[in-house]
Amino acid sequence: MRRVVVIGGGILGLAVARELTVRGDEVTLLEKEDRWAAHQTGNNSNVVHAGLYYKPGSHKARMSVAGNRSILAFAREHGVPAEVCGKLVVATQPSERAALHVLAERAEANGVPARLIGPAEAREYEPEVSCVEALRVETTGIIDFPAVCETLARLSTSAGADLRPGSRAVAIRPRPGGGVDVATETSSGGSGRGRSARTCWSTVPGCTPTGSPSSPGCGRGRGSCRSAASTTS
Ligand SMILES: Cc1cc2nc3c(=O)[nH]c(=O)nc-3n(C[C@H](O)[C@H](O)[C@H](O)COP(=O)(O)OP(=O)(O)OC[C@H]3O[C@@H](n4cnc5c(N)ncnc54)[C@H](O)[C@@H]3O)c2cc1C
Repeated sequence: MRRVVVIGGGILGLAVARELTVRGDEVTLLEKEDRWAAHQTGNNSNVVHAGLYYKPGSHKARMSVAGNRSILAFAREHGVPAEVCGKLVVATQPSERAALHVLAERAEANGVPARLIGPAEAREYEPEVSCVEALRVETTGIIDFPAVCETLARLSTSAGADLRPGSRAVAIRPRPGGGVDVATETSSGGSGRGRSARTCWSTVPGCTPTGSPSSPGCGRGRGSCRSAASTTS
C-alpha cells in the first residue's frame, strides 16, 4: 500500500483521492479552504462538455467523450443534479457556415451525436436564437459540480481516505530514502480576525514529521497548527 498526499479539494483532487483510495492506497487530501470546490470547480459554467472541439483521435477528444459518459453515469448513480439538455452551436452569418461544418465533421469523427439544422429548427430548441444554420449537439449537459465534489468527498471518506479541509500545504521536500514530506498549516477557527493564533507542529497519523517537535494536544480540528504529511509514492 502506498501513502499518498493529494493537494487540492477541487474536482481533480477529490476524484484522484477517491480513485486511489478505492485502489488500496492510504490517502490524505489537503484542502486549504474549509469547503470543497471553493475555487475553479465551484465557479465554472457547470457544463458537461460533449467532446466536440478536440482533434479526432487525440487524448483530449477521447477523454472528453468518455468523461461526458462517465460523469453523467456517476450523477445518475449517486443522485447528483444533472441534465443532458444538449446545445446549439450557431453560425450567425453565412461566412461562419464553413467553420460550423468543420465542427460537424469533428463531432462525427469523435463519436459525438450532432447534426446540422436550419434556423427554424434551431428556434424550436431556443426561441431567442438568431442564426443562419446551427449544429445541434445532443450530449452536452449541465451538472452541479460542487455536488459532485461533495459526493466524491463522502465516497472517499467512506472508502477510508483522510480528507482535511482547512489544511494548506506549505512545503514539500524529498525524504531520505524516497518519498516526500509535506508540511501543512491547519486552521479550524475560520478565516480572518476570528482565527486562533496558536501555532504548533503535529504529524498526520501514520506519517513522519518534517522536523519541529510535535506538540501534545495539537491535533485535527483544534486551533491553528503546522503539521506534516508524507507520501512514498
Ligand atoms: C471560467 C471557467 C469556466 C469553466 N467552465 C467549465 C465547465 O463548464 N465545464 C468543465 O468541465 N470545466 C470548466 N472549466 C474548467 C474546470 O472548472 C477546471 O478544469 C476544474 O475545475 C479544475 O479543477 P481542479 O481541481 O484542478 O482545480 P480547483 O477547483 O481550482 O481546485 C484546486 C484546489 O486546490 C486548493 N489548493 C491550492 N493550493 C493549495 C495548497 N497549497 N494546499 C491545499 N490546497 C490548495 C484550492 O483551494 C482549490 O480548492 C472552466 C474553467 C473556467 C476558468
